[in-house]
Amino acid sequence: MSFSQLGLIPSLVESVAAEGYQTPSPIQAKAIPAVLAGKDVLAAAQTGTGKTAGFSLPILQKLNEGQAAKPKQVRALVLTPTRELAAQVGASIARYGAGLKLREAIVFGGVSINPQISKLARGVDVLVATPGRLIDLYNQNAVRFDSLEVLVLDEADRMLDMGFIHDIRRILKLLPAKRQNLMFSATFSKDIRELAKTIVNDPVEVSVAAENTTAERVKQRIITVDKKKKPDLLVHLLKENAWHQVLAFSRTKHGANRLATRLSSESIPAVAIHGNKSQNARTKALDDFKKGKVRVMVATDIAARGLDISKLPYVINVDLPNVPEDYVHRIGRTGRAGESGEAISLVAADEAKQLQDIERLIGQKLTREVEDGFEPGHDVPQTPAQIRTPKPSSQRRRNRGGRSNVAKDGQGKTTERSGRSSSRGDNASGKPGRNRSRSSTANNPNRKPGNANSNRKPSDNRSGQRSEPNGNR
Ligand code: AMP
Repeated sequence: MSFSQLGLIPSLVESVAAEGYQTPSPIQAKAIPAVLAGKDVLAAAQTGTGKTAGFSLPILQKLNEGQAAKPKQVRALVLTPTRELAAQVGASIARYGAGLKLREAIVFGGVSINPQISKLARGVDVLVATPGRLIDLYNQNAVRFDSLEVLVLDEADRMLDMGFIHDIRRILKLLPAKRQNLMFSATFSKDIRELAKTIVNDPVEVSVAAENTTAERVKQRIITVDKKKKPDLLVHLLKENAWHQVLAFSRTKHGANRLATRLSSESIPAVAIHGNKSQNARTKALDDFKKGKVRVMVATDIAARGLDISKLPYVINVDLPNVPEDYVHRIGRTGRAGESGEAISLVAADEAKQLQDIERLIGQKLTREVEDGFEPGHDVPQTPAQIRTPKPSSQRRRNRGGRSNVAKDGQGKTTERSGRSSSRGDNASGKPGRNRSRSSTANNPNRKPGNANSNRKPSDNRSGQRSEPNGNR
Protein backbone atom coordinates (compact mmCIF):
# COMPACT_ATOMS: atom_id res chain seq x y z
CA MET A 1 0.00 0.00 0.00
CA SER A 2 1.39 3.40 -1.00
CA PHE A 3 0.29 6.95 -0.21
CA SER A 4 -0.82 7.52 -3.80
CA GLN A 5 -2.97 4.39 -3.65
CA LEU A 6 -4.83 6.05 -0.78
CA GLY A 7 -5.95 8.73 -3.23
CA LEU A 8 -3.51 11.49 -2.30
CA ILE A 9 -2.45 14.02 -4.92
CA PRO A 10 1.19 14.07 -6.15
CA SER A 11 2.16 17.17 -4.16
CA LEU A 12 1.23 15.47 -0.87
CA VAL A 13 2.79 12.18 -1.92
CA GLU A 14 6.01 14.11 -2.56
CA SER A 15 5.79 15.76 0.87
CA VAL A 16 5.52 12.46 2.71
CA ALA A 17 8.37 11.04 0.64
CA ALA A 18 10.45 14.06 1.68
CA GLU A 19 9.60 13.22 5.31
CA GLY A 20 10.99 9.75 4.73
CA TYR A 21 7.65 7.96 5.16
CA GLN A 22 7.68 4.90 2.95
CA THR A 23 4.35 3.30 3.67
CA PRO A 24 1.24 4.61 5.36
CA SER A 25 0.91 3.67 9.02
CA PRO A 26 -2.23 1.64 9.91
CA ILE A 27 -4.11 4.73 11.07
CA GLN A 28 -3.18 6.59 7.89
CA ALA A 29 -4.31 3.68 5.70
CA LYS A 30 -7.71 3.76 7.38
CA ALA A 31 -8.25 7.45 8.07
CA ILE A 32 -7.01 9.03 4.83
CA PRO A 33 -9.60 7.43 2.47
CA ALA A 34 -12.38 8.01 5.02
CA VAL A 35 -11.56 11.70 5.39
CA LEU A 36 -11.20 12.14 1.63
CA ALA A 37 -14.67 10.60 1.26
CA GLY A 38 -16.03 13.29 3.58
CA LYS A 39 -16.83 10.94 6.44
CA ASP A 40 -16.59 11.78 10.13
CA VAL A 41 -13.88 9.76 11.87
CA LEU A 42 -13.61 8.57 15.46
CA ALA A 43 -10.14 7.18 16.00
CA ALA A 44 -8.51 5.42 18.92
CA ALA A 45 -4.93 6.41 18.34
CA GLN A 46 -2.13 7.85 20.37
CA THR A 47 0.77 10.12 19.60
CA GLY A 48 3.36 8.14 17.72
CA THR A 49 0.94 6.31 15.43
CA GLY A 50 1.24 8.83 12.62
CA LYS A 51 -2.23 10.24 13.32
CA THR A 52 -1.17 13.81 12.50
CA ALA A 53 -0.47 12.93 8.88
CA GLY A 54 -3.56 10.70 9.01
CA PHE A 55 -5.84 13.71 9.37
CA SER A 56 -3.66 16.51 7.91
CA LEU A 57 -2.98 15.03 4.48
CA PRO A 58 -6.60 14.44 3.43
CA ILE A 59 -7.70 17.75 4.99
CA LEU A 60 -5.04 19.63 3.01
CA GLN A 61 -6.13 17.85 -0.15
CA LYS A 62 -9.79 18.73 0.35
CA LEU A 63 -9.01 22.35 1.22
CA ASN A 64 -6.83 22.57 -1.86
CA GLU A 65 -9.87 21.75 -4.01
CA GLY A 66 -12.06 24.56 -2.58
CA GLN A 67 -12.07 28.33 -2.25
CA ALA A 68 -9.36 30.07 -0.20
CA ALA A 69 -10.35 31.36 3.24
CA LYS A 70 -12.02 34.78 3.47
CA PRO A 71 -10.74 37.41 5.97
CA LYS A 72 -10.90 36.21 9.60
CA GLN A 73 -12.45 32.93 8.47
CA VAL A 74 -11.04 29.48 9.15
CA ARG A 75 -11.76 26.47 6.94
CA ALA A 76 -10.25 23.68 9.07
CA LEU A 77 -9.75 23.92 12.83
CA VAL A 78 -7.46 21.55 14.73
CA LEU A 79 -7.83 21.75 18.52
CA THR A 80 -5.00 20.39 20.65
CA PRO A 81 -4.64 20.27 24.44
CA THR A 82 -1.10 21.65 24.76
CA ARG A 83 0.93 24.42 23.20
CA GLU A 84 3.75 22.04 22.33
CA LEU A 85 1.39 19.71 20.53
CA ALA A 86 -0.17 22.66 18.68
CA ALA A 87 3.30 23.78 17.58
CA GLN A 88 4.22 20.30 16.43
CA VAL A 89 1.00 19.61 14.59
CA GLY A 90 1.15 23.05 12.97
CA ALA A 91 4.74 22.51 11.87
CA SER A 92 3.84 19.12 10.37
CA ILE A 93 0.89 20.60 8.49
CA ALA A 94 3.10 23.39 7.13
CA ARG A 95 5.62 20.84 5.88
CA TYR A 96 3.03 18.51 4.36
CA GLY A 97 1.30 21.42 2.64
CA ALA A 98 4.49 23.14 1.46
CA GLY A 99 3.62 22.46 -2.20
CA LEU A 100 0.06 23.82 -1.90
CA LYS A 101 -1.13 27.41 -1.76
CA LEU A 102 -2.89 27.16 1.57
CA ARG A 103 -2.49 29.43 4.58
CA GLU A 104 -1.86 27.89 7.99
CA ALA A 105 -1.62 29.42 11.43
CA ILE A 106 -0.91 28.18 14.94
CA VAL A 107 -2.35 29.97 17.96
CA PHE A 108 -1.81 29.24 21.66
CA GLY A 109 -1.55 31.15 24.90
CA GLY A 110 1.55 32.35 26.71
CA VAL A 111 2.77 34.41 23.74
CA SER A 112 1.69 37.77 22.36
CA ILE A 113 -1.78 37.71 20.80
CA ASN A 114 -1.20 40.54 18.31
CA PRO A 115 0.80 38.63 15.68
CA GLN A 116 -1.89 35.95 15.85
CA ILE A 117 -4.62 38.54 15.24
CA SER A 118 -2.71 39.89 12.22
CA LYS A 119 -2.24 36.43 10.80
CA LEU A 120 -5.92 35.59 11.16
CA ALA A 121 -7.02 38.87 9.58
CA ARG A 122 -6.43 37.58 6.06
CA GLY A 123 -8.17 34.31 6.85
CA VAL A 124 -6.47 30.92 7.23
CA ASP A 125 -7.21 27.59 5.63
CA VAL A 126 -5.95 25.50 8.55
CA LEU A 127 -5.82 26.82 12.09
CA VAL A 128 -4.18 24.79 14.86
CA ALA A 129 -5.20 26.11 18.26
CA THR A 130 -5.36 25.45 21.97
CA PRO A 131 -8.88 26.10 23.29
CA GLY A 132 -8.27 29.00 25.70
CA ARG A 133 -6.45 31.25 23.23
CA LEU A 134 -8.92 30.43 20.48
CA ILE A 135 -11.77 31.69 22.67
CA ASP A 136 -9.79 34.86 23.48
CA LEU A 137 -9.28 35.47 19.78
CA TYR A 138 -12.95 34.89 19.05
CA ASN A 139 -13.93 37.29 21.81
CA GLN A 140 -11.65 39.90 20.27
CA ASN A 141 -13.38 39.41 16.94
CA ALA A 142 -10.15 38.18 15.38
CA VAL A 143 -11.54 34.88 14.09
CA ARG A 144 -14.83 33.65 12.69
CA PHE A 145 -16.04 30.17 11.83
CA ASP A 146 -18.91 30.77 9.37
CA SER A 147 -17.16 28.88 6.60
CA LEU A 148 -15.60 26.15 8.74
CA GLU A 149 -15.53 22.87 6.85
CA VAL A 150 -13.61 20.52 9.15
CA LEU A 151 -13.06 20.21 12.90
CA VAL A 152 -10.33 18.02 14.36
CA LEU A 153 -10.26 17.29 18.08
CA ASP A 154 -6.79 15.92 18.77
CA GLU A 155 -5.96 14.03 21.97
CA ALA A 156 -9.52 14.44 23.21
CA ASP A 157 -8.81 12.47 26.39
CA ARG A 158 -6.07 14.88 27.39
CA MET A 159 -8.39 17.78 26.65
CA LEU A 160 -10.80 16.41 29.22
CA ASP A 161 -8.05 15.53 31.70
CA MET A 162 -6.75 19.08 31.47
CA GLY A 163 -10.17 20.53 32.16
CA PHE A 164 -10.94 21.90 28.70
CA ILE A 165 -14.44 20.45 28.44
CA HIS A 166 -16.20 23.78 28.97
CA ASP A 167 -13.98 25.54 26.45
CA ILE A 168 -14.65 22.80 23.93
CA ARG A 169 -18.41 23.05 24.46
CA ARG A 170 -18.20 26.82 23.97
CA ILE A 171 -16.21 26.42 20.78
CA LEU A 172 -18.62 23.80 19.40
CA LYS A 173 -21.47 26.28 19.78
CA LEU A 174 -19.60 28.74 17.56
CA LEU A 175 -19.18 26.31 14.67
CA PRO A 176 -21.57 25.74 11.78
CA ALA A 177 -23.68 22.60 12.24
CA LYS A 178 -22.77 21.22 8.84
CA ARG A 179 -19.11 20.25 8.96
CA GLN A 180 -16.84 17.23 8.90
CA ASN A 181 -15.59 16.06 12.30
CA LEU A 182 -12.53 14.02 13.20
CA MET A 183 -11.90 13.02 16.78
CA PHE A 184 -8.76 11.35 18.08
CA SER A 185 -8.28 9.94 21.55
CA ALA A 186 -5.86 7.48 23.08
CA THR A 187 -8.47 6.14 25.48
CA PHE A 188 -12.25 5.86 25.26
CA SER A 189 -13.71 6.48 28.68
CA LYS A 190 -17.42 7.08 29.25
CA ASP A 191 -16.77 10.86 29.20
CA ILE A 192 -15.02 10.64 25.85
CA ARG A 193 -17.86 8.59 24.39
CA GLU A 194 -20.36 11.16 25.68
CA LEU A 195 -18.33 13.94 24.09
CA ALA A 196 -18.01 11.97 20.85
CA LYS A 197 -21.81 11.71 20.61
CA THR A 198 -22.02 15.51 20.49
CA ILE A 199 -19.30 15.84 17.87
CA VAL A 200 -19.07 13.05 15.31
CA ASN A 201 -21.94 11.96 13.10
CA ASP A 202 -22.14 8.36 11.86
CA PRO A 203 -18.35 8.12 12.07
CA VAL A 204 -15.96 5.65 10.52
CA GLU A 205 -14.39 4.12 13.62
CA VAL A 206 -10.68 3.50 13.41
CA SER A 207 -8.75 1.70 16.08
CA VAL A 208 -5.07 1.00 15.82
CA ALA A 209 -4.02 -2.11 17.64
CA ALA A 210 -0.81 -1.80 19.62
CA GLU A 211 1.85 -3.73 17.78
CA ASN A 212 4.49 -3.55 20.44
CA THR A 213 4.28 -2.26 23.94
CA THR A 214 6.46 0.38 25.47
CA ALA A 215 8.01 -2.26 27.67
CA GLU A 216 9.06 -4.31 24.66
CA ARG A 217 10.28 -1.43 22.56
CA VAL A 218 12.26 0.47 25.15
CA LYS A 219 15.20 -1.07 26.98
CA GLN A 220 14.61 -0.22 30.63
CA ARG A 221 16.85 -0.49 33.66
CA ILE A 222 17.32 1.16 36.99
CA ILE A 223 20.51 2.23 38.70
CA THR A 224 20.19 2.30 42.48
CA VAL A 225 21.94 5.22 44.11
CA ASP A 226 21.69 7.42 47.19
CA LYS A 227 19.44 10.41 46.67
CA LYS A 228 22.18 12.98 47.31
CA LYS A 229 24.44 11.34 44.73
CA LYS A 230 21.94 11.51 41.86
CA PRO A 231 23.24 14.73 40.25
CA ASP A 232 26.83 13.42 40.45
CA LEU A 233 25.76 10.12 38.93
CA LEU A 234 23.94 11.89 36.12
CA VAL A 235 27.04 13.94 35.33
CA HIS A 236 29.17 10.78 35.50
CA LEU A 237 26.87 8.85 33.15
CA LEU A 238 26.79 11.70 30.66
CA LYS A 239 30.57 12.04 30.72
CA GLU A 240 31.14 8.31 30.42
CA ASN A 241 28.70 7.69 27.60
CA ALA A 242 28.47 9.24 24.17
CA TRP A 243 24.75 9.92 24.54
CA HIS A 244 24.14 12.85 22.27
CA GLN A 245 20.50 13.52 23.08
CA VAL A 246 19.06 12.83 26.50
CA LEU A 247 15.69 13.80 27.92
CA ALA A 248 16.02 13.81 31.71
CA PHE A 249 13.04 13.99 34.03
CA SER A 250 12.82 15.74 37.35
CA ARG A 251 9.76 15.63 39.58
CA THR A 252 9.88 19.35 40.36
CA LYS A 253 10.53 22.55 38.45
CA HIS A 254 13.24 23.60 40.89
CA GLY A 255 14.89 20.22 40.58
CA ALA A 256 14.85 20.60 36.78
CA ASN A 257 16.45 24.05 37.03
CA ARG A 258 19.09 22.85 39.48
CA LEU A 259 20.03 19.89 37.30
CA ALA A 260 20.26 21.99 34.12
CA THR A 261 22.49 24.51 35.92
CA ARG A 262 24.70 21.76 37.33
CA LEU A 263 25.10 20.06 33.95
CA SER A 264 25.91 23.35 32.23
CA SER A 265 28.54 24.05 34.87
CA GLU A 266 30.10 20.69 33.97
CA SER A 267 30.28 21.73 30.29
CA ILE A 268 27.34 19.52 29.39
CA PRO A 269 24.96 21.78 27.43
CA ALA A 270 21.58 21.47 29.13
CA VAL A 271 18.30 23.30 29.38
CA ALA A 272 15.25 22.99 31.63
CA ILE A 273 11.66 22.92 30.34
CA HIS A 274 8.74 23.34 32.74
CA GLY A 275 5.58 25.29 33.38
CA ASN A 276 7.31 28.30 34.98
CA LYS A 277 9.18 29.05 31.78
CA SER A 278 7.64 31.43 29.27
CA GLN A 279 6.27 29.86 26.14
CA ASN A 280 9.06 31.41 24.10
CA ALA A 281 11.67 29.91 26.44
CA ARG A 282 9.98 26.52 26.17
CA THR A 283 9.84 26.67 22.39
CA LYS A 284 13.49 27.72 22.22
CA ALA A 285 14.53 24.96 24.64
CA LEU A 286 12.78 22.33 22.55
CA ASP A 287 14.18 23.76 19.35
CA ASP A 288 17.75 23.83 20.68
CA PHE A 289 17.36 20.29 21.94
CA LYS A 290 15.98 19.01 18.64
CA LYS A 291 18.76 20.73 16.70
CA GLY A 292 21.39 19.23 18.98
CA LYS A 293 22.51 22.61 20.37
CA VAL A 294 21.88 21.28 23.87
CA ARG A 295 22.61 17.70 24.77
CA VAL A 296 20.27 17.33 27.72
CA MET A 297 16.78 18.68 28.24
CA VAL A 298 15.56 18.39 31.81
CA ALA A 299 11.77 18.32 31.90
CA THR A 300 8.92 18.00 34.34
CA ASP A 301 6.11 15.62 33.48
CA ILE A 302 3.54 18.11 32.30
CA ALA A 303 6.00 20.11 30.21
CA ALA A 304 7.04 16.93 28.44
CA ARG A 305 3.53 15.92 27.40
CA GLY A 306 3.05 15.68 23.70
CA LEU A 307 6.71 16.21 22.86
CA ASP A 308 7.64 14.31 19.76
CA ILE A 309 11.35 14.38 19.28
CA SER A 310 11.95 11.90 16.56
CA LYS A 311 14.40 9.12 17.32
CA LEU A 312 15.01 10.30 20.86
CA PRO A 313 17.42 7.62 22.05
CA TYR A 314 17.66 8.18 25.83
CA VAL A 315 15.36 9.03 28.67
CA ILE A 316 16.80 9.32 32.17
CA ASN A 317 14.47 9.50 35.13
CA VAL A 318 16.46 11.37 37.72
CA ASP A 319 13.46 11.05 40.03
CA LEU A 320 10.72 8.49 39.69
CA PRO A 321 7.30 10.06 39.16
CA ASN A 322 4.70 9.84 41.92
CA VAL A 323 2.04 8.77 39.44
CA PRO A 324 3.12 5.47 37.85
CA GLU A 325 1.40 6.22 34.52
CA ASP A 326 3.80 9.13 34.12
CA TYR A 327 6.66 6.64 33.97
CA VAL A 328 5.06 5.08 30.90
CA HIS A 329 4.56 8.53 29.36
CA ARG A 330 8.15 9.47 30.11
CA ILE A 331 9.73 6.40 28.59
CA GLY A 332 7.29 6.68 25.69
CA ARG A 333 9.26 9.80 24.64
CA THR A 334 11.88 7.38 23.39
CA GLY A 335 11.37 4.53 20.98
CA ARG A 336 8.94 6.59 18.92
CA ALA A 337 7.78 5.82 15.39
CA GLY A 338 9.00 2.27 15.58
CA GLU A 339 12.48 3.15 16.85
CA SER A 340 13.98 1.51 19.89
CA GLY A 341 15.26 3.49 22.84
CA GLU A 342 16.69 3.23 26.30
CA ALA A 343 15.23 4.42 29.59
CA ILE A 344 17.36 4.57 32.71
CA SER A 345 15.92 5.43 36.12
CA LEU A 346 18.06 6.57 39.03
CA VAL A 347 16.32 5.14 42.07
CA ALA A 348 16.99 5.97 45.72
CA ALA A 349 15.86 4.04 48.78
CA ASP A 350 12.92 6.33 49.46
CA GLU A 351 11.49 5.66 46.01
CA ALA A 352 10.79 1.96 46.60
CA LYS A 353 7.06 2.58 46.72
CA GLN A 354 7.03 4.45 43.41
CA LEU A 355 9.18 1.72 41.89
CA GLN A 356 6.78 -0.94 43.10
CA ASP A 357 3.80 0.95 41.64
CA ILE A 358 5.60 1.30 38.30
CA GLU A 359 6.59 -2.35 38.14
CA ARG A 360 3.05 -3.34 38.96
CA LEU A 361 1.69 -1.07 36.23
CA ILE A 362 4.05 -2.25 33.50
CA GLY A 363 3.80 -5.85 34.71
CA GLN A 364 7.53 -6.24 34.76
CA LYS A 365 10.36 -6.16 37.28
CA LEU A 366 13.06 -3.75 36.17
CA THR A 367 16.69 -4.81 36.00
CA ARG A 368 18.73 -3.23 38.80
CA GLU A 369 22.30 -2.10 38.43
CA VAL A 370 24.83 -0.28 40.55
CA GLU A 371 27.36 2.07 39.01
CA ASP A 372 30.95 1.67 40.21
CA GLY A 373 31.77 4.48 42.62
CA PHE A 374 28.09 5.19 43.28
CA GLU A 375 27.15 2.16 45.38
CA PRO A 376 24.19 3.17 47.53
CA GLY A 377 24.66 3.38 51.30
CA HIS A 378 20.90 2.88 51.61
CA ASP A 379 19.72 -0.07 49.56
CA VAL A 380 16.47 0.23 47.67
CA PRO A 381 14.14 -2.28 49.32
CA GLN A 382 13.16 -5.19 47.12
CA THR A 383 9.86 -4.92 45.33
CA PRO A 384 7.61 -7.99 45.28
CA ALA A 385 8.64 -10.60 42.74
CA GLN A 386 5.02 -11.36 42.00
CA ILE A 387 3.76 -8.56 39.81
CA ARG A 388 0.00 -8.36 39.87
CA THR A 389 -1.89 -7.92 36.64
CA PRO A 390 -2.47 -4.22 36.14
CA LYS A 391 -5.97 -2.98 36.84
CA PRO A 392 -8.02 -1.73 33.93
CA SER A 393 -7.07 1.86 33.22
CA SER A 394 -10.60 3.12 33.93
CA GLN A 395 -10.32 1.72 37.46
CA ARG A 396 -6.90 3.29 38.01
CA ARG A 397 -8.24 6.58 36.82
CA ARG A 398 -11.06 6.45 39.38
CA ASN A 399 -8.72 5.46 42.16
CA ARG A 400 -6.36 8.29 41.47
CA GLY A 401 -9.07 10.74 40.66
CA GLY A 402 -6.72 11.93 37.96
CA ARG A 403 -5.83 11.53 34.37
CA SER A 404 -4.40 8.68 32.43
CA ASN A 405 -3.98 8.12 28.79
CA VAL A 406 -2.07 4.95 29.22
CA ALA A 407 -3.84 2.46 27.05
CA LYS A 408 -4.17 -1.27 27.15
CA ASP A 409 -3.55 -3.44 24.21
CA GLY A 410 -5.42 -6.64 23.54
CA GLN A 411 -3.32 -8.61 25.96
CA GLY A 412 -3.80 -6.20 28.83
CA LYS A 413 -0.26 -4.92 28.46
CA THR A 414 0.36 -1.28 29.13
CA THR A 415 1.44 0.91 26.30
CA GLU A 416 1.92 4.63 26.05
CA ARG A 417 1.02 4.58 22.39
CA SER A 418 0.45 2.30 19.49
CA GLY A 419 3.25 2.01 17.04
CA ARG A 420 4.48 0.51 13.89
CA SER A 421 6.78 -2.41 14.23
CA SER A 422 10.41 -1.53 14.63
CA SER A 423 12.58 -1.60 11.58
CA ARG A 424 15.74 -1.62 13.65
CA GLY A 425 16.82 -3.70 16.53
CA ASP A 426 19.67 -1.67 17.96
CA ASN A 427 19.39 0.90 20.70
CA ALA A 428 20.04 3.77 18.34
CA SER A 429 23.25 4.70 20.13
CA GLY A 430 25.48 2.34 18.23
CA LYS A 431 27.31 1.87 21.51
CA PRO A 432 27.08 -1.26 23.59
CA GLY A 433 26.15 -0.97 27.26
CA ARG A 434 28.99 -0.07 29.60
CA ASN A 435 30.77 -2.35 31.92
CA ARG A 436 28.77 -1.89 35.04
CA SER A 437 28.66 -3.94 38.17
CA ARG A 438 25.34 -5.63 37.79
CA SER A 439 24.13 -6.25 41.21
CA SER A 440 21.25 -5.89 43.32
CA THR A 441 19.25 -8.40 44.96
CA ALA A 442 17.07 -8.96 41.92
CA ASN A 443 19.97 -10.43 40.02
CA ASN A 444 22.46 -11.28 42.69
CA PRO A 445 21.06 -12.76 45.83
CA ASN A 446 24.57 -13.03 47.30
CA ARG A 447 25.11 -9.33 47.38
CA LYS A 448 25.25 -7.92 50.86
CA PRO A 449 22.31 -5.72 51.71
CA GLY A 450 24.71 -2.97 52.82
CA ASN A 451 23.14 -0.34 55.05
CA ALA A 452 19.68 -1.15 53.91
CA ASN A 453 17.31 0.55 56.20
CA SER A 454 14.06 -1.24 55.86
CA ASN A 455 12.37 0.99 58.40
CA ARG A 456 13.05 4.06 56.41
CA LYS A 457 9.81 5.81 55.57
CA PRO A 458 9.22 7.06 52.07
CA SER A 459 9.39 10.82 52.26
CA ASP A 460 7.70 11.50 48.96
CA ASN A 461 4.42 13.16 48.42
CA ARG A 462 2.00 10.34 47.69
CA SER A 463 -0.95 12.54 46.99
CA GLY A 464 -0.56 12.12 43.26
CA GLN A 465 -1.16 15.85 42.84
CA ARG A 466 0.13 17.36 39.65
CA SER A 467 2.89 19.82 40.27
CA GLU A 468 1.97 22.04 37.35
CA PRO A 469 -1.82 22.37 37.20
CA ASN A 470 -2.96 24.04 34.00
CA GLY A 471 0.67 24.48 33.11
CA ASN A 472 -0.08 24.49 29.43
CA ARG A 473 -2.89 26.97 29.28
P1 AMP B 1 2.24 11.37 15.25
O1 AMP B 1 1.56 10.15 15.81
O2 AMP B 1 1.42 12.04 14.22
O3 AMP B 1 2.68 12.29 16.35
O4 AMP B 1 3.58 10.88 14.49
C1 AMP B 1 4.62 10.29 15.19
C2 AMP B 1 5.90 10.25 14.39
O5 AMP B 1 5.79 9.33 13.30
C3 AMP B 1 6.29 11.59 13.76
O6 AMP B 1 7.66 11.78 14.01
C4 AMP B 1 6.03 11.40 12.29
O7 AMP B 1 6.91 12.17 11.51
C5 AMP B 1 6.27 9.92 12.09
N1 AMP B 1 5.45 9.33 11.00
C6 AMP B 1 4.19 9.64 10.66
N2 AMP B 1 3.76 8.87 9.63
C7 AMP B 1 4.77 8.05 9.31
C8 AMP B 1 4.94 7.02 8.32
N3 AMP B 1 3.97 6.68 7.47
N4 AMP B 1 6.14 6.38 8.28
C9 AMP B 1 7.13 6.71 9.16
N5 AMP B 1 7.03 7.67 10.10
C10 AMP B 1 5.87 8.34 10.19
